[in-house]
Amino acid sequence: MARPSLRLDGNVPGAFYVDSSCIDCGTCWQWDPDHFAQAGTTARVRRQPSGDEAIRRALLALQACPVAAIGAPADLLGRTPADGFPSLLTHHPAGDVHYCGWASRKSFGASSYLILRPGGNVLIDSPRFSVPLARRIEAMGGLAAIVLTHRDDVADHGRWAEHFGCPRWIHQADADAAPDAEHHVEGEQDLGLDRDLRLIPTPGHTAGSMVVLLGGQILFSGDHLWWSETEQAVVASRRYCWWDWPSQVASVEKLQGLDVRWLLPGHGDRRAFAAGEWCEQIERTLAFCRSGG
Ligand code: SF4
Repeated sequence: MARPSLRLDGNVPGAFYVDSSCIDCGTCWQWDPDHFAQAGTTARVRRQPSGDEAIRRALLALQACPVAAIGAPADLLGRTPADGFPSLLTHHPAGDVHYCGWASRKSFGASSYLILRPGGNVLIDSPRFSVPLARRIEAMGGLAAIVLTHRDDVADHGRWAEHFGCPRWIHQADADAAPDAEHHVEGEQDLGLDRDLRLIPTPGHTAGSMVVLLGGQILFSGDHLWWSETEQAVVASRRYCWWDWPSQVASVEKLQGLDVRWLLPGHGDRRAFAAGEWCEQIERTLAFCRSGG
């Protein structure tokens, strides 16, 4: 629970606040940029929510926070929706994509996503295990598979797999992070789970990093790439490359020819792209990477 005594000075006055236990993961301001923002190495409340819908959104940011660093009075906390997550991001013929909220401290607050598909729902990376979220996913048809993009964002994968009795996929090179995973991707060849869902090895950030491509247009990028609102660019970061930077740059090149319309990362901002925009953006990213990153 957030503590009023630890309330950060950067918060605007009012009911909601961020306290000093914030780990600067970005979950709150990516979900609710109207009310939360980054301030140095923490988040802050930049504007107090007003009206039912705005308060609902801020309460869901509070629920999603991996370390309970967001506080609000008890009467408002009692209004926190149990059915806020998964929250629809986009409809697509290959599957509707939802953001799961309920970020986990174990993955430093990484985002996870649920794809609703007639052939079986797929979870991309793992949220914090929570009964309300599990009930919601049950009501949405359960899970047929979990794909783990890389070793950092596996969080509570074991509890989710056990709860839904579904198999997990992870790359062999990161498999020690999920030793019970049922399936491994090997080498650098793409693997199609079916016609609309491709697992593409993109080593670099970690040895076993993968991205997942849905319907040729929606890219779940783990920590390989993300959108930066500040830089207005697709970013591959040398600073956050834990394994091998030249390999990561080569892995960005693999994605040049795609027609991405949504970039959905583990960390960093989410972004929709107009037709043809991806090619232009990824060219700029590669130019930056090749100049040193
Ligand atoms: S979600 Fe929580 S930990 Fe993450 S930036 Fe916001 S307040 Fe900080």
